[in-house]
Amino acid sequence: MTFDDFQFDYDLMDGLDAMGFNKPTPIQELAIPVILAHKDLIACAQTGTGKTAAYVLPIIDKIIGSNHSHLNTLILAPTRELAVQIDQQVQGFSYYVPVSSIAIYGGGDGAIWDQQKKALKAGADIIIATPGRLISQLASGDIKLDKLEHLILDEADRMLDMGFYDDIVKIISYLPKERQTLLFSATMPPKIRTLAAKILHKPEEISIAISKPAEGILQQAYLTYDAQKIPLLGEIFKQTTYQSVIIFAGTKERVKSLQFELKRIGLKARSFHSDLEQKEREDLMNEFRSRKVQVLIGTDILSRGIDVDGIDLVVNFDVPPDPEDYVHRIGRTARAESKGTAITFINEKDQRRFHAIETLIEKEIPKLPLPTFLGEAPIYSPKTHRPEPKRGFKPKRKS
Ligand code: ADP
Ligand code: MG
Repeated sequence: MTFDDFQFDYDLMDGLDAMGFNKPTPIQELAIPVILAHKDLIACAQTGTGKTAAYVLPIIDKIIGSNHSHLNTLILAPTRELAVQIDQQVQGFSYYVPVSSIAIYGGGDGAIWDQQKKALKAGADIIIATPGRLISQLASGDIKLDKLEHLILDEADRMLDMGFYDDIVKIISYLPKERQTLLFSATMPPKIRTLAAKILHKPEEISIAISKPAEGILQQAYLTYDAQKIPLLGEIFKQTTYQSVIIFAGTKERVKSLQFELKRIGLKARSFHSDLEQKEREDLMNEFRSRKVQVLIGTDILSRGIDVDGIDLVVNFDVPPDPEDYVHRIGRTARAESKGTAITFINEKDQRRFHAIETLIEKEIPKLPLPTFLGEAPIYSPKTHRPEPKRGFKPKRKS
């Protein structure tokens, strides 16, 4: 299948070409016809599969063919970073067509607030907003969403995790009942079903299995004792040159301490965590994107929706507790057809978790031998490395 099969507007096709999109991804192949047919849709596919274009392209195509003098489409996204990324894609695709967009997100000063307000009043075809800020803007004035035709919830699972359920329901109360609603999500927990039942009308459902990491990812693992992890990482960096690397660790504290431990062995890395101000996070992401920062350490918040191309190595410094998080983490590399490597360090305690991942993705991941100077590695025996038995009381979890 090619993009020609959708019979998009010619100028939109030029935008697609300019963005370097040649062939639709599986979610795009399935979602675009449904959206063009004006149906509601629930679409579930892991990060990095091209969900943004799956809804942005048919929506732009529909707007081109309509008389657009009002706010036509609302896209809700969980974070400012994502809203900005979606806006950039919309602007890229619509470079040759008269379709306008604005991003509405929190933070910034009063000037930004006023600017957003003006833009909302003046109107744009597509608004991309974080729920909190949009509510404030709606509450404070005469923004008319009553002619809206399309509502899209992007990363719906994450919006609910962040506590936006009430905000979303409130925003919907401003929208016309007759509209097309599309819900995109990386996972489908029951609360997404509840939300969908409330706001979608006879939706079509598309689900692309979460359990299959992209083909282009070379997955490897090392069995290690904790004390071997840092020198092993140093050795991996010595053996190969990587341009752009993400190292995942379980907790914020671990992320911070890793930055210093890496520095001691001469590896320059920066850490990304929730204690940074919004502005600091954005600056850091920009430096990472431009390769000024080549190694980024983060927790699982980094694994969702951060859209940076050309990451060639992902290291799991420890095994994530939720097997799906493994798929999200390694999905940061090998985005859309490119190649990448994902390496996981497995200590004895994490062996069972790792086995659960191998079961989920239905694949045994090769365990590489440790460089000899590091000494013996633990043996892989996930069934025997059981957690501490409970002796009538709940042991305190160390984090
Ligand atoms: P998701 O929302 O599913 O996590 P994105 O929409 O952010 O994924 O897409 C991931 C990356 O793949 C982006 O950099 C995007 O530009 C690129 N991409 C998406 N679809 C295609 C395509 N058909 N051809 C080439 N690149 C694509
Ligand atoms: Mg996305």
